[in-house]
Amino acid sequence: MQLENYIRDIQGFPKEGILFKDITPLLNDAKARKECLDTLVKSLKNQKIDKVVGAESRGFLFGILLAQELNAGFVPVRKPNKLPYETISASYDLEYGTDNLEIHIDAIQKGDKVLIHDDVLATGGTAKAVCELIEKLGGEIVQLNFLMELTFLNGREKIKEYDIFAAITY
Ligand code: 5GP
Repeated sequence: MQLENYIRDIQGFPKEGILFKDITPLLNDAKARKECLDTLVKSLKNQKIDKVVGAESRGFLFGILLAQELNAGFVPVRKPNKLPYETISASYDLEYGTDNLEIHIDAIQKGDKVLIHDDVLATGGTAKAVCELIEKLGGEIVQLNFLMELTFLNGREKIKEYDIFAAITY
């Protein structure tokens, strides 16, 4: 099965000049979704995972599936002021300016083996901020995995000290 066939290109979303990779066809097909999940799980080579951390918001989708499959906890990383309990935050660069991501202070225990998941690795800014949050809490990052990596944006450079896996690369 070619997982690429379940990713749809949307020209000009969310704004002109951007070619957006739409994962909703993949979500909408039970077989393709399962194949994608299996591919992500296999890439871990039986490494033990205590927590899966998913980045808002599309990272929550397969993030939860991965946590279930790996018998691990799931931790959401969210945009500012969305999480109800005490948080720490990390900033990351946007095209214009910066934004922050937050995590609950008790979501990761020191020494937890952590898998980070997001749908897309683009410039790597989001992934780097998530790594910072986890390491501030004492977590050990085992792998970052993505449904897709847009290799021409060189996101890997920002997180090159970590193990990175993508089910599909462009
Ligand atoms: P980065 O911080 O690596 O530049 O961007 C990654 C973040 O932007 C991810 O959280 C991802 O959800 C979102 N993103 C950027 N481009 C795309 C895209 O083409 N398709 C989807 N589905 N998400 C994208």
